[in-house]
Amino acid sequence: MLNNDMKIDPKYTGNMRKDRLDNDLVCMATAVLWAGRSKDPSSQVGACYVNEEGRIISVGYNGAPNEWPDEEFPWGRDTENGKNLNNTKYPYVIHAEMNGILNYMGQGSDFKNSTVFVTLFPCPECAKFLVQRGIKKVVYLSDKYRLPEDKYEEKFNSDPNIAAKRTLALAGVECVNFADINEKSAEEFKISLRPDEGIEMIKAKDMKRVRRK
Ligand SMILES: [Zn+2]
Repeated sequence: MLNNDMKIDPKYTGNMRKDRLDNDLVCMATAVLWAGRSKDPSSQVGACYVNEEGRIISVGYNGAPNEWPDEEFPWGRDTENGKNLNNTKYPYVIHAEMNGILNYMGQGSDFKNSTVFVTLFPCPECAKFLVQRGIKKVVYLSDKYRLPEDKYEEKFNSDPNIAAKRTLALAGVECVNFADINEKSAEEFKISLRPDEGIEMIKAKDMKRVRRK
């Protein structure tokens, strides 16, 4: 504590900016921006890791392995009824969550109890990596692969989205829809990730429209 002689005269204080961006919004916006770096023509995903103290420690987006010439990477998705898989992206692409972990140059233990902000709910593979690294919270923007309730049997027997959720739930990883924690900001901001149209981030009043085609 400062004694009264040391304190700054109140007439010089109290001028702090009060309408700054909240941290959750900045972290999700960071994930959205990193998704924009992806070269995948059909699916751009970003991940932003935030440690226990609320600091961003790593980011990633979905991409090809190092040294693979971009022009020679097979970004296609069509497996031709399960065949031709090795001529699609699936065996080779590294997801945003994994790249975010691999890009980090510090210690793996720095991820303990961290939160990952992702533009798309993690797949089962990434869910395992998140658990092994000690991530305790997943905040997601989209869960577009979630099957509807009426597909109960398919959902619980063959849906990868359910497998990912099972792995995360067993490890006590909290999964939160960004819309549920961003109600206040949602009035002011619109952040959307549209694979077909690119990325759009709008602040209603004073932020310029950022659009990537
Ligand atoms: Zn994944």
